[in-house]
Amino acid sequence: MAEFTLIDRIRARTVERDDIPLGIGDDAALLQPRPNEQLVVTADTLNAGVHFPVETPAFEIGWKTLAVNLSDLAAMGARPAWCTLAMSLPDAGEDWIEAFADGFFALADQHDIALIGGDTTRGPLSLSVTAMGQVARGQALRRDRAQVGDDVWVSGTLGDAAGALRLWQQGQLDVAKPTLFADHETLRRRLLLPSPRVTLGLRLRAFAHAAVDLSDGLVADLGHIAARSGVGAQLDADVLPISPELRDLLGRDGARDCALHGGDDYELCFTAAADQRDALHYLAESLDLPLTRVGRIVDGQGVQVDGVSASSGYQHFA
Ligand code: ADP
Ligand code: MG
Repeated sequence: MAEFTLIDRIRARTVERDDIPLGIGDDAALLQPRPNEQLVVTADTLNAGVHFPVETPAFEIGWKTLAVNLSDLAAMGARPAWCTLAMSLPDAGEDWIEAFADGFFALADQHDIALIGGDTTRGPLSLSVTAMGQVARGQALRRDRAQVGDDVWVSGTLGDAAGALRLWQQGQLDVAKPTLFADHETLRRRLLLPSPRVTLGLRLRAFAHAAVDLSDGLVADLGHIAARSGVGAQLDADVLPISPELRDLLGRDGARDCALHGGDDYELCFTAAADQRDALHYLAESLDLPLTRVGRIVDGQGVQVDGVSASSGYQHFA
């Protein structure tokens, strides 16, 4: 498919909105931010073979490309607004583009984020999104605001995506298509179709001191909060929220390892004062999303699991 046909295909899926005086089609887009709000901007790239197995279907790639960026906005407590999409494609097959767009816009529509531009080139498969959100001045959730005495909380269940990756590496899970094994399918979806916790992030502005999204594993990402806030963190391995599917497939120790060190969860980890516990339990109920207290913020530095210093997660250049 020619570059301009491809851009037209994508453009046909976009919406007109008051906050986009000029969208796709000019040299750049014009955006109209809300008064008294701050812009929240983040970018993330997914490379084939590095961030997803090469056989991942186009729909899932489209979904996940946006999901990882929405997750960063969620961790900031921002309301999603606009995004750009830079694609490097080895060949632009029509079916692939349509399926990719199906996945991308399925999630974009859920969160009211508008695609307002991008770039299209030929090269190894790589997708890069810049996502923009808005938050009232001074209200953003940050990594550097954790306080000694805070509880450490996480949303959802941890380790499912890493579990799926492990099963795939062992040849026990095909990521290219849905499977009839219910447990495998649950984990496959957790790896390829993550749900960014945007609504949770918005609500947490009222309760949390610090927040981070879990892309590199709980120990590593909580370590970022600890380092940026100048505090230490302690985790209790016994209380980590682990799905029954992960426990059944990997056993207790394997599941725990994935929950502590596995990446790609895209849940939120946050700290909050102990007097917010009841409010957070109500919030969990109202969102129908588990929130689990997994540890506490202490004087010192680094992350300890059951009192033992823990090392970090996946690092690209380690
Ligand atoms: P230029 O050469 O001026 O950079 P392009 O021809 O690359 O412009 O792009 C034309 C328009 O299409 C621009 O508005 C650009 O933002 C948009 N665009 C290009 N690729 C994509 C894409 N993958 N997704 C969304 N918009 C795109
Ligand atoms: Mg131009």
